[in-house]
Amino acid sequence: MAEKIVMKTPLVEMDGDEMTRILWKMIKDELLLPFIDLKTEYYDLGLKHRNETDDQVTVDSANATKKYGVAVKCATITPNAARVKEYDLKEMWKSPNGTIRSILDGTVFRAPIMVKGIEPCVRNWEKPITLARHAYGDVYKNVEIKVPGAGKGYLVFEGEDGTVQKELIQEFKGAGILQGIHNTDKSISSFARSCFNYALDQKQDVWFATKDTISKKYDHNFKDIFQEIFDNEYKEKFEQAGITYFYTLIDDAVARVMKAKGGFIWACKNYDGDVMSDMVSSAFGSLAMMTSVLVSPEGVYEYEAAHGTVQRHYYKHLAGEETSTNSVATIFAWTGALRKRGELDGTKELCDFADRLEAATIATIESGRMTKDLALITSLKDVTVLNSEAFIKEIRKTLEA
Ligand code: NAP
Ligand code: MG
Repeated sequence: MAEKIVMKTPLVEMDGDEMTRILWKMIKDELLLPFIDLKTEYYDLGLKHRNETDDQVTVDSANATKKYGVAVKCATITPNAARVKEYDLKEMWKSPNGTIRSILDGTVFRAPIMVKGIEPCVRNWEKPITLARHAYGDVYKNVEIKVPGAGKGYLVFEGEDGTVQKELIQEFKGAGILQGIHNTDKSISSFARSCFNYALDQKQDVWFATKDTISKKYDHNFKDIFQEIFDNEYKEKFEQAGITYFYTLIDDAVARVMKAKGGFIWACKNYDGDVMSDMVSSAFGSLAMMTSVLVSPEGVYEYEAAHGTVQRHYYKHLAGEETSTNSVATIFAWTGALRKRGELDGTKELCDFADRLEAATIATIESGRMTKDLALITSLKDVTVLNSEAFIKEIRKTLEA
C-alpha cells in the first residue's frame, strides 16, 4: 500500500452523538485512517462527556478552533426535557452549535451536494445555491407585548449620555400586539465580511437582499454596511477573482433565485435565512446531502453536516436492527476540513485526497449504490440499497479502484 499522507497541523475533531457518532467512527476507520496519517486534537462533544465537564469541553473545542483555524464537527444532541431525563443531566446544557457560534462569531453557509440521479425540484438549478444565514438578532431576540386594550405603544432609546429618542409606534383603540427587535453594527459587519471572504474562497458571486424600501432605517442599515465594507475592503479583490456583489430587494431576490442556474452565495438576514434554507435544501433533495460550514470573520472554519444525530436510526441500531443511514454529509464535513487544512498548510496531497474521496462518494451513488433515503427519491433505475456500513465500504472500494 502507498505511504500515508502526512499532515502538518492537526484538525480540531469534535465527536458527537447517536447514529452520527457511529458513522463518525466508521468513516475514520474505513475512509481516512488507511490513507492519512491523521492528526487531530480530539474533543468529545458527546452529551455524556459534555455533562461530565459541565459543558467546558464545548468551550475548549471552540477555543482550539480559534487557535488552529479548522475544525470538523459531528452532529450533537441539543438537550430538551426528555434528554435531561434520558442522560440524567445536571443541567439542560445549551446547544453546542450556539455556543461555538457565539465564540467564533461566525456565519453558517449551507450548500447541497449534487449528484446525477437526485435532481432538484427546480429544473433550472444546475449548480448548488449556498445559503448564508445571519445568525444573530432580529426576531430571534425580540421583546413582545400583548396589548390588552386602548393605549399608546412607543419605541424608546435612552443613550448613556442621557439623551432620549422616542417614537410613537401606534395609538391603539383596542387590543393588539407590539414587538421590539434589534441588531448591532458589529454583528452585521461580521456577517458581511464572512460572506465576502467565503465568496473569494469559493469564487462565487454574493447576492444580498433586504426590504430597505419599507424598512428605511433598520434594513437600510444592513444594505449600507454591506455596501461600505464591500467598497472599502473587497471591491478590488472581487474584480481580480472575477466575481460580483449584487444587492436587490428580498422579493426580487426570491423571484430571481427561482429562475437562476445556481452557483452563487445567497446571503440572508436571520429570518429570511431560516425560511429560505429549508426551501432551498428540500428543493435540492435531502438534508442528508447538505453540507454546513461556520466561517468566522477572521477566517476560522468549522465543518459539519446540516442534519442532526438521526435519533430514530440510532435506537434501531441499539436494538440490533440494520440501519441505512446516509453518511455523505458527514464525509463531506471531513473532506471540507481536510481540504481547508491542506490549503492553509500548503499540503497539496491532502487537498487531492479530499477531492478524490468526494469524487468516490459521488461516483458510488451515481453507479446506483446508495442508502435508503436516496433510493426513495432517485431517478436512477436498478438501485442497490445498502446499509450504513456497506455504503461506506462501497465508497472505499471506489476510492481504491
Ligand atoms: P435529524 O437527526 O436530522 O433526523 C430527522 C430525520 O431525517 C431522521 O429521522 C431521518 O428520517 C432523516 N435523516 C436525517 N439525517 C439523515 C441521514 N443522514 N440519513 C438518513 N436519514 C436522515 O433530526 P432530529 O431527529 O429532529 O434530531 C435528532 C437530534 O439531533 C436532536 O437531539 C437534535 O438536537 C439534534 N440536532 C443536531 C444538529 C447539529 O448538531 N448540527 C442539527 C439538528 C438536530 P427517517 O427517520 O424518516 O429515516
Ligand atoms: Mg428552520
